Amino acid sequence: MDFDSEFKAFEYDPNQPLDVEAWLKLDEMERILVVEDYHKQARVKLPDVHLHAVFHAAIENQIAEGLEDVIEALERLQFQGLDRHEAIHAIASVLLEQISDVMENPEPFIILGPPNYAYLQEVRKLTKRSWYRKYGKKRRRRG
Ligand SMILES: [Zn+2]
Repeated sequence: MDFDSEFKAFEYDPNQPLDVEAWLKLDEMERILVVEDYHKQARVKLPDVHLHAVFHAAIENQIAEGLEDVIEALERLQFQGLDRHEAIHAIASVLLEQISDVMENPEPFIILGPPNYAYLQEVRKLTKRSWYRKYGKKRRRRG
């Protein structure tokens, strides 16, 4: 594959605030690839790194596009003690649920498309507690 220099220079780190300008210069496929790279280098064990990256990219797109409900959820979750990467996963889980409701085999173009009302409504309700309750991750007594 032939990558241009902007793509090569872009280093995705979900725990750092997104470089929106640089992110928007990448095309969708490049965005997914830089996210995949991050997870491979960080040796995060995932059943499907590509699908995981598609969801990451979808959420980062919404942040880059200035979608208020998503940005607020990201800030809220971090304020409640999640790191940025976990917060992205929590928001992505809402997106996954919304898509699973619609169809069994989500296609990237649908995931990356404009967010719908039901999704944003759920994002507004998302908290660290609601995420932990649903997914049982790192459950803490006073989570
Ligand atoms: Zn991730």
